[in-house]
Amino acid sequence: MNVLIYGSGQLAQMMYLSAVPLGFKVQAVDVANHTVVDPISKMKLDISIEQAIDRADALSVEFEHVPEDLLEQAQSSGKLYPSMEAILTGADRVREKNVLEKLQINNSKHLIITDIEQLDDAVAQLGEKLIIKASRDGYDGYGQWRLASKDDLPSLKQQLADLDLVQVPLIAEQMVPFDRELSLVGARGLHGEVKFYPLAENLHHEGQLHVSVAPAPEIDNALIEQAHSAFTKLADEFDYVGVLAVEFFQVGKQLLVNEIAPRVHNSGHWSMQGTDCSQFENHMRAITGLPLGNTQAYGKSAMINIIGCDDYSTDLLSLDHCNLHLYGKTVRAKRKMGHINLTGNTYADLAELMTTLAKYLPVEHFPKLLGEADKLAKID
Ligand code: AMP
Repeated sequence: MNVLIYGSGQLAQMMYLSAVPLGFKVQAVDVANHTVVDPISKMKLDISIEQAIDRADALSVEFEHVPEDLLEQAQSSGKLYPSMEAILTGADRVREKNVLEKLQINNSKHLIITDIEQLDDAVAQLGEKLIIKASRDGYDGYGQWRLASKDDLPSLKQQLADLDLVQVPLIAEQMVPFDRELSLVGARGLHGEVKFYPLAENLHHEGQLHVSVAPAPEIDNALIEQAHSAFTKLADEFDYVGVLAVEFFQVGKQLLVNEIAPRVHNSGHWSMQGTDCSQFENHMRAITGLPLGNTQAYGKSAMINIIGCDDYSTDLLSLDHCNLHLYGKTVRAKRKMGHINLTGNTYADLAELMTTLAKYLPVEHFPKLLGEADKLAKID
């Protein structure tokens, strides 16, 4: 099988690596330069995008912010999975909110802002604790502003004054007092079959994912049903093919969808060591019509992102049940450089491993690691 992925970062790399044992050839589109590149070396290949599309059995994306002209060209080949509509929905919070409302999927209360003065309505209707998000091109906490009190509204309006809100509206969301964040990663095949990974618990810091634990502790059937129902409604709506991730806030016994990602997702990276068939391999299987692989977790897994640093000790490789995945990037603040997967039989095993791992890491870059280890140690 030949697959062409739009985007040439770590997700394309991991999709390729997962599909090598299946005999796949994978090329990637550098969407900034409109060139075809090797997903591992990132070297430009001597082939046009049109030729690569012709040769591919399936096309897909590693991220949703692919320029629309490229997506249209991909969609017109009839080989793009998931569809352009699903990708655009993940790329645009207004579309996303509209779909969630249409499908009656619980999500945070919000108002779409196309004029800065509507922020007054948002405070009146939603309360003074708000999170304001750019509807497009925001990720990992970029393009987000927080309002803690209505006294700060004038200065926030000033900060946002230069934005073109007709072109790119804002979403003003009620700040949800959530108990924790969860995500569901699942795959839907070409013929509609679905496999879910267990729910993951996600710990964020400054808008970025730092740690995922899967299966998430303290999950009951009612939570699983809510998550599966939201996923199924969305996947059916788009006749979705591939891996889809749905991020939730848990508030008491209720799940609210925060956002959806029409692609493999950082909170599913644990599946590389924690299951028979990783999210990357299942995505490649789904888009090429192969049977989906087993998504059950072997035991308990944790995924720890390496963000904005490269001064950890590679002696961490001496630890059992600890796998390092690096993306080959030069270091920059807030940049995802790689991740570490840990596996254990119990949460207590995992907690012990996390505590040992911390000794090899500059702890200031891993603010969630030890607190989570303490929490997990108390579960088993
Ligand atoms: P997002 O880019 O929408 O995933 O937001 C990044 C992170 O900001 C989330 O993972 C949450 O930790 C936090 N966040 C986003 N929206 C809200 C909200 N409505 N209420 C509380 N926290 C939020």
